[in-house]
Amino acid sequence: MKIVYSEKFEERYSANPVEGPDRARLSARKLQGHDFVEPLPASLEDVSRVHSREHIEMVRRKGMLAPALLAAGGANLAAEIALRGKAAFALVRPPGHHASATTAWGMCYFNNVAVAVRKIEDRIEGKIEGRTGKVLIVDIDLHYGDGTVGIFRWDDGVKVVNVGAIDPGFDYLALDPAGYIGQVERAVAESDFDLLAVSAGFDTYVLDWGGLIDLADYREIGRILREGAEEKSAGRRFAVLEGGYHQDLPLCIRSFVEGFGGD
Ligand SMILES: [Zn+2]
Repeated sequence: MKIVYSEKFEERYSANPVEGPDRARLSARKLQGHDFVEPLPASLEDVSRVHSREHIEMVRRKGMLAPALLAAGGANLAAEIALRGKAAFALVRPPGHHASATTAWGMCYFNNVAVAVRKIEDRIEGKIEGRTGKVLIVDIDLHYGDGTVGIFRWDDGVKVVNVGAIDPGFDYLALDPAGYIGQVERAVAESDFDLLAVSAGFDTYVLDWGGLIDLADYREIGRILREGAEEKSAGRRFAVLEGGYHQDLPLCIRSFVEGFGGD
């Protein structure tokens, strides 16, 4: 399993203090033994496929251009690894799924997963000859990935499924862990795809804000996603860190990676 990581993800920047450097630093430590690869920053051309010029300028004015480009670059590298049929987890900050084409909130700047999908989508081998492949994005963060949904709303080639998310459906409070995992199973079973991307947020964790999913559940969710990718997308899969703010985040990520990588 490839872990996409840079020590630059351990920088402190003036965002909400809950999204702190230790999220990356301590998680990287817990993943020792995996194969670490270092990303390059995404280019302005890469982020322009998703975001307006005004939005990119706003990120620049906030002094976040360099960290946000590196996070998107991390997702890009994970997607390239996935294209080759290998699994990758991009351990990046800042997160991205609340970034739309023209705005961003919730500690996000560029939509890392969307930038990566747009960069590689023409090169995904489809099941129908001459057609490029379809992408399934499964968002397991506690919060609804409104940015990602908006970006791909009119795109037939990219399906986005938010699992048990708070807003806009708000069925979250009615879910137990089995129901939540069942939604992950259905997301994979009911979709046709040639590459799987995961917006991997861990704030649904039992001791985090969501209070629902434990470490064994994260391993199980990773396994379901891996087996789905093995069945439908020749194993092509990658995950990108989104939220997750409890001190156990490194354990959540490690459990997920064990299931998702399968090695
Ligand atoms: Zn979240």
